[in-house]
Amino acid sequence: MESEKSRNGANHFENVACPFCGILCDDLEIGPSNDGLKVLKNGCVKSVAGFERPLSEPKPQIDGKDVSLDEAIAAAARLIKNSRLPIFGGLGTDVDGIRAAIALAEKGGGILDHALSEGQYRNFKVLQSSGWVLTTLTEARNRADLFIIAGSDLHKLHPRFFERVVCNEASMFSDNPPKRTVVFLGEALDQSALKGNRIGEVVTIPVKGDRIAEILDAMRAMNKGATVSGDTIAGLPRADIEDLLARCKAASYGVILWAPPSLTFPNADLTVQAISEFVKEINLTSRFAGLSLGGNDGATSAGAVCSWQSGFPLRVSFATGEADYDPVRYSADRLLAAKEADMLLWLSSFSPDLKEPETDVPTIFLAAPGIKPSRQPKVYIPVGTPGLDHSGTMVRVDNVVSLPLKKLRQSTLPRAADVLEKIEAAL
Ligand code: SF4
Repeated sequence: MESEKSRNGANHFENVACPFCGILCDDLEIGPSNDGLKVLKNGCVKSVAGFERPLSEPKPQIDGKDVSLDEAIAAAARLIKNSRLPIFGGLGTDVDGIRAAIALAEKGGGILDHALSEGQYRNFKVLQSSGWVLTTLTEARNRADLFIIAGSDLHKLHPRFFERVVCNEASMFSDNPPKRTVVFLGEALDQSALKGNRIGEVVTIPVKGDRIAEILDAMRAMNKGATVSGDTIAGLPRADIEDLLARCKAASYGVILWAPPSLTFPNADLTVQAISEFVKEINLTSRFAGLSLGGNDGATSAGAVCSWQSGFPLRVSFATGEADYDPVRYSADRLLAAKEADMLLWLSSFSPDLKEPETDVPTIFLAAPGIKPSRQPKVYIPVGTPGLDHSGTMVRVDNVVSLPLKKLRQSTLPRAADVLEKIEAAL
């Protein structure tokens, strides 16, 4: 709902969807301030940084010199045309932006990869090989009585996650919802957001990230009735793990959460697999599900749109004219390090902090103002942020809903989708 215009032309908005992390909270209230916008209600440190960023409208540049948008678009098209193997990376954009990036990669014969793909692939490998049982943010919020946070600092990635999904006092299905048990499986995970009447017991099991899978595998074996020997499991007292299994069995709706970007140790996909297999096992006797978070900088939208358009998640090459998928070979980092790619288009419309891979190939930056590339880009085109400078749509991290984003301020910054379409037309 919008109220009347303020002095500087900015409106007052309620029920705003926030694009600055994957959970896309849709209850923010934003109003005008003297130099732009102010988050009035339901903000967090990330959303304040995003929405209250002062408006800056720099000109496009070629080799660091200001040019017109048309000149920058023509230069970008020339670079792509002359490239043997261009990479379309970063991909921090909304649904329209990723659609346009895919069309450009197809016409330009290039490879698509998101800045956060490495984390996403810890999940994709499991989904592709053995499958999983996942729930949604809404289901977890309304039904779960046991949350197990596996090795992921959710509060840092999603500052309002606990407030919205774990600490909520009301439930859709009960006037008197039971208290919740929250288990932190990992070291030094931020518990400061656990507040309020819904929170019952908080249990900390300080296991190293790369040993979480041992706990899940041991609990799966014990649940099957197998003998698991030893006084310790993953370096922790066996009694602690038996207690955790008992809590899982007793739960009426348990959820194990993880965020793939937090699982940064080698072979972390095996931890995601251990979580997924435990969930399948415990589901035979009680109700349980996994819930993967992350999906910041449009990673979920990029993966979803690429899957429905090309049949594959990211790391797709159009170099041969057809979609070819290889999650190892088509990593942007690997291609640039191996000097197999000879150009990089870096798309980052949410944050000026999305870092490009190290490279000495020519680069085209389509990015929010304020980005600081390691080397001067050949072409820089400042673009607007979806949900701030223009309207748009994004897919939420649980992949079940797409949320509409509002234009909140007057800005001359173009949509990334429009710039990409113009580059494609100029090829
Ligand atoms: S938690 Fe994420 S989606 Fe919610 S307000 Fe903060 S940055 Fe935005």
